[in-house]
Amino acid sequence: MENRLRLLFSLQLVDAGLAELEELKGDLPATVKTLQESLGERRTTQSELESLIKQATVSRDETDVEIMTIKERLEKYKTQQFQVKTNKQYDALAREIDQSQDRITKLGKELEALEGKAAIAAKDAEQLKPEIDELEAELAERQKELNAVTKEHEAEELKLRHEREKHVAKLSKSDYQLYERIRKAKDGRAVVPVKRSSCGGCFNRVPPQKILELRKNDALITCERCGRILVSDEIVETATNAR
Ligand SMILES: [Zn+2]
Repeated sequence: MENRLRLLFSLQLVDAGLAELEELKGDLPATVKTLQESLGERRTTQSELESLIKQATVSRDETDVEIMTIKERLEKYKTQQFQVKTNKQYDALAREIDQSQDRITKLGKELEALEGKAAIAAKDAEQLKPEIDELEAELAERQKELNAVTKEHEAEELKLRHEREKHVAKLSKSDYQLYERIRKAKDGRAVVPVKRSSCGGCFNRVPPQKILELRKNDALITCERCGRILVSDEIVETATNAR
């Protein structure tokens, strides 16, 4: 049992070391993430605008062709009007001419709308460009800073990660799960010493009976208030010296 408690406290020491290294990075990891997200959103908007412009261009060309076809037909109808022999035929052609002219007017309006849409999209895309450039520059800068800090402590971090793996491998699965559960819920500190008869995590008084028990180092004892695992000074010393 002593070994199990010592392992848990050793793991806690390693995690505290890793947390310290993480703290050195300050806001940089969060800043980089936010910048990446903002940049991603704008790039998505940009490509949406680009495909909108492309689509509008295709539709515009199609509408152009349609208008030209109708105009050609219209000319034909007009010529035919001089050649017809009955009023009935003449009226039929007049109706066709009217319909064609209406269609041309409608398509002309559609064309205008498409051009307007494309122009707005192009303007939006244009405005987005400097924003994206600015974000890209800032991201590159912050990423560089983060890389520098990470590189500075790379060896130490690697050593700690390796140590962590070794401790975790020696612990039982249930002990590790318990440790992780408390660690994540309690600010990164799952195993704490008892100091002046109080829990080193929440400073709640530990009853004398419990202190006697935990000094035996043969049971996993938790704080009644915060749920952290409590260890004796002896465990703290042996684990610290073993590093
Ligand atoms: Zn506590």
